[in-house]
Amino acid sequence: MIVMTYRTETGLALGIKTADGVVDATAAAQVVGMSEARIDPITFFRAGLDAMDRLQDLATRAHKLPELAVPEHQLPAAPCVPAPGKIICIGLNYRGHAAETNAEIPAQPVLFSKFNNSLAGSGQPVVLPGPMTRYDYEAELVVVMGRRAKAVTEAAALDHVLGYCNGNDLSCRDLQFLSGQWLIGKTLDGFMPLGPYLVTADDVPDPQRLSVRSWVNGEPRQNSSTADMVFSVAELVSYISRYMTLEPGDIISTGTPEGVVLGMKDGARPWLRPGDEVVVEVEGLGRLVTPLA
Ligand code: ZN
Repeated sequence: MIVMTYRTETGLALGIKTADGVVDATAAAQVVGMSEARIDPITFFRAGLDAMDRLQDLATRAHKLPELAVPEHQLPAAPCVPAPGKIICIGLNYRGHAAETNAEIPAQPVLFSKFNNSLAGSGQPVVLPGPMTRYDYEAELVVVMGRRAKAVTEAAALDHVLGYCNGNDLSCRDLQFLSGQWLIGKTLDGFMPLGPYLVTADDVPDPQRLSVRSWVNGEPRQNSSTADMVFSVAELVSYISRYMTLEPGDIISTGTPEGVVLGMKDGARPWLRPGDEVVVEVEGLGRLVTPLA
């Protein structure tokens, strides 16, 4: 199932993607008599896998309600997970990216975080603030948790995942390397575009076999596969859950492959500029578009 969060005049709405367009979950539930109440995306992601059976049931019916379907391009996408409790990011998690930045392949996952001010929807312009100049993109597979996970084994880890989405871990390299902490260069406003969809885990049979690609102004920049990850999704969920309880709606951005500007030759680095457009596509998760302003 593919779901989308989008903005309306009355707040955020949850939509189900069908062959005819996107069907508003609240409207569909009312038409089929499942619920009169509004289906709020924030509440949905907080419930996670507990809310899935009901939504799946609704999705099956929504496919038979073409009269409710709206063309996707008419809906302003919000971050597909609108209010994650945690945004955990993984650094240097692809062999190719560690090599291009002359970094050692980490023996343990490198964790850092972003905050909710950094979230942006697909199509939403992101401002590159001055006076910094070294702005970069990072195409990433993002894992959305669906069930509380505390000290879960690798074998059980994926049972706690709700689904996956595209992420762009936009980074300001000037600030990232200003101190020993990357955080300040990672969590500028809008620097975590997310979406456009949440694709549920049952539609992603193997998260370690997905192509990860990005383009800047149509020019290919990254083209790798999640098979190159140092630590798999299951290893990451298990590792993190040993130290902090993961809750439904928490997200983990699993690192970027090679092809970022930072990895290019000094003196020939096309840092991102206002007017550029970055596209991220992890296989099967749609197209995340970020115009820079
Ligand atoms: Zn990253």
